Amino acid sequence: MNILDSFTQEPRIAYFSMEIALRSEIPTYSGGLGVLAGDTLYSAADLELPMVAVTLVSRAGYFRQSIDQQGRQQEASDPWRPEDWAKPLDAKVALPIGGRMVWVSGWLYVLQGHMGNAQPVILLDTDLEENTPEDRHITDGLYGGDQAYRLKQEMVLGIGGVRLLQALGFAIREYHLNEGHSALLAVELLRRYRYPAEGLRPGESPYDVPRVREQCSFTTHTPVEAGHDRFSYELVQQVAGEPIALGVLKQLGGEDALNMTRLALNLSEYVNGVAKRHAEVSRGMFPGYRVHAVTNGVHPFTWTSEPFRKLYDKYIPGWCHEAELLMRADCCIGDAEIWEAHRQTKQRLIECVKAATGASLDPQRPILGFARRMTAYKRPDLLFADVQRLREIAAHHPFQIVIAGKAHPHDTRGKQLIEQLHAQARALGDAIPMFFLPGYDLAKAQCLVAGVDVWLNTPLRPLEASGTSGMKATFNGVPNLSVLDGWWVEGCIEGITGWAIGDSQEADNDTDAESLYRKLGDLVLPLYYKDRSRWIAVMKGAIAKNAAYFNSHRMMRRYATEAYIR
Ligand SMILES: *Cc1c(COP(=O)(O)O)cnc(C)c1O
Repeated sequence: MNILDSFTQEPRIAYFSMEIALRSEIPTYSGGLGVLAGDTLYSAADLELPMVAVTLVSRAGYFRQSIDQQGRQQEASDPWRPEDWAKPLDAKVALPIGGRMVWVSGWLYVLQGHMGNAQPVILLDTDLEENTPEDRHITDGLYGGDQAYRLKQEMVLGIGGVRLLQALGFAIREYHLNEGHSALLAVELLRRYRYPAEGLRPGESPYDVPRVREQCSFTTHTPVEAGHDRFSYELVQQVAGEPIALGVLKQLGGEDALNMTRLALNLSEYVNGVAKRHAEVSRGMFPGYRVHAVTNGVHPFTWTSEPFRKLYDKYIPGWCHEAELLMRADCCIGDAEIWEAHRQTKQRLIECVKAATGASLDPQRPILGFARRMTAYKRPDLLFADVQRLREIAAHHPFQIVIAGKAHPHDTRGKQLIEQLHAQARALGDAIPMFFLPGYDLAKAQCLVAGVDVWLNTPLRPLEASGTSGMKATFNGVPNLSVLDGWWVEGCIEGITGWAIGDSQEADNDTDAESLYRKLGDLVLPLYYKDRSRWIAVMKGAIAKNAAYFNSHRMMRRYATEAYIR
């Protein structure tokens, strides 16, 4: 029996993503995009939605982060062994890259949902004897290398991925392009769906664009320019040759350079942004395209700590499959039990911080958490805009801070921010105990988002497309204190689910910092110390009104009914 038999019997939705967070031990992801892809598949498993995911094997991982004495990020490669987790596939396909045929094979990782259903994940791999030493490395490093390396990876993902699915016997009813990295899959479909030459008038395009569009859905994930790949046609011709007639490629992907977002937009019938605000911003960026909004969500079981799982199992059976049921949390779970589950979850974080840094956090004092990719627009430094002010706040209402996050190895500003945060921590000393957890990954995120008392997010509007870590917090009754951007525009009900920093208008750092200090010093911390029952009401509000909605089951039901079935 073939290892794929149970997956190739019915047509599936192919989900293409450059990164997917499958589990903590497998470093095939860098951050939010990959974690969302993982949650997508775990939800699809729980909902028995037939999918097949395609990604790169990324044998060298993203990178392993450590921090030196000066607070500088050190990067090491983070290799993993696919043979420890996945089964080799016996099919192989070839595609021309840089004038050579490059063979692509892959691994089957079976993603096992906690409710007993599974989804196949194909990890594409060019590390084959047939390939030159250089080509064997194409699928090694996630987001590493130069433009040519990236384009080669995107060819393997898009073109190699479509061909391998066919060789493996998958019947695909719809392709989901998770971000523009996989847009070349649509180009490969164009090659497949060509009108017969005899019916064509001279000069008429032989490609059946409507048929390709019918099969493709595209999700764009960021308004940040660097998140949209552009390749010069000179490079495209060097690396890819002419996968389809150059004139047609330029029509679809842009005249000046091959813009993967534009290519995906032109070849997908259904296009969406990842929150309502992000869809609006995307409509402004890409006028003329119909951009829907499917607000992100996170996987309920994955992001709920053990103590809260037990609590929900007791009072809200079925919550794992129908997270909407969590809307009952504010009425049917007692304060003492919520607080006790939180106490246990916080204790786990305290142990996690102790193991990583040797430091002891005080369980009696509130912990503020902040963790995400360290990059300028996320403004991890906003909290420290006025350190004197922050010290005064802490003098009245003591609190502690835990921070984590990686900066892309080429993001100089992001790395500087990590260094500055470490300098702040040293300067604050005992006044505000502050710790940085190195090597942010799924396991650390599970500990951190669940165990803090308040989750903080301070991005520069409107650049946070969605943000998902705050959603993870809500499954554990952790309220958000965040800038009104991304999902929080939809999730924030002031004083009920958490608190807003500033309003929804774009604002400068000083204005946002002022609002942050006011909320923290006048509202959030006093409430924590002086009115525990109202504090717990906000915790319950976060569960009942945020977790009940911002979950990946709701998200996948929407993709299924609006994107996959049209
Ligand atoms: C959730 C998550 C992210 C993304 O967090 P955002 O709030 O969307 O920035 C990044 N890394 C890890 C490990 C995560 O779990």
